[in-house]
Amino acid sequence: MSVSAARFAAVPPSDTGTAEPEWAKWLDRQGPWARPRFDVEVLVVLAAHPDDEVLGASGMMSAAIAAGVHVVTVCLSDGAGSHPGSPTMSPPQLAARRHLELDAAAAILGLDPPRWCGLPDGGLDNREPEMVGIVGSLLDEYRSNRVGLLSVWAHDGHPDHEAVGRCAQAIGTERGIPVWMYPVWMWHWARPGDPSIPWHRLRAHPLDEGVLEVKRAAVRAFESQLRPLSDAAEDRAVLSAHMLSHLLRDREFVFE
Ligand SMILES: [Zn+2]
Repeated sequence: MSVSAARFAAVPPSDTGTAEPEWAKWLDRQGPWARPRFDVEVLVVLAAHPDDEVLGASGMMSAAIAAGVHVVTVCLSDGAGSHPGSPTMSPPQLAARRHLELDAAAAILGLDPPRWCGLPDGGLDNREPEMVGIVGSLLDEYRSNRVGLLSVWAHDGHPDHEAVGRCAQAIGTERGIPVWMYPVWMWHWARPGDPSIPWHRLRAHPLDEGVLEVKRAAVRAFESQLRPLSDAAEDRAVLSAHMLSHLLRDREFVFE
């Protein structure tokens, strides 16, 4: 297990972690932050689960589209693992539901329908060569373009996120293309100034109220993650109010 995965495992999702106002104060003090520049023609955005890209990078994707960049989103897992043991929805039902939710969120953001790879949720760290192959052949479609990858972060704590991030890094190195990585769960398990985080590599993309409103609408599409499926413990909401407060702040961050 990586150090970051151990850190994530030690902070249960029910734990509140660092409150958003504290993060905001600390992040302000570290500023001004350099902005990321997606100076590519095609930006391929990688998510481990159907919602990572919307939670972590909606505003950045919107800005890229507005700048004329072609944005392609790729969801590696089928999302069937969000509610293990659920008495309400089977894993295939969850996958189907989350697929629809992601399509709806993408439409709200003005994105093309996401590419859906359907690999096992919770098992991506066993599928790294396969993921490199899948993403590699997708990139081959854009051989004549300047392409970059925007992936969930390789040290985000969740083993699936880390596997996708490593896959992006491997492809970036092999092909010599830029790779940006957005954190999601880091805001839950890390602390302001945490020595395990390479803060100097972090860039901030500010979201104005209009962009944030669209992002909020897109996030609301993930109803299966926001609300309990039933009163059963296995059906509890995956995205807590404190996680949402980090991911719906007025800026998004990305490692460059
Ligand atoms: Zn995820």
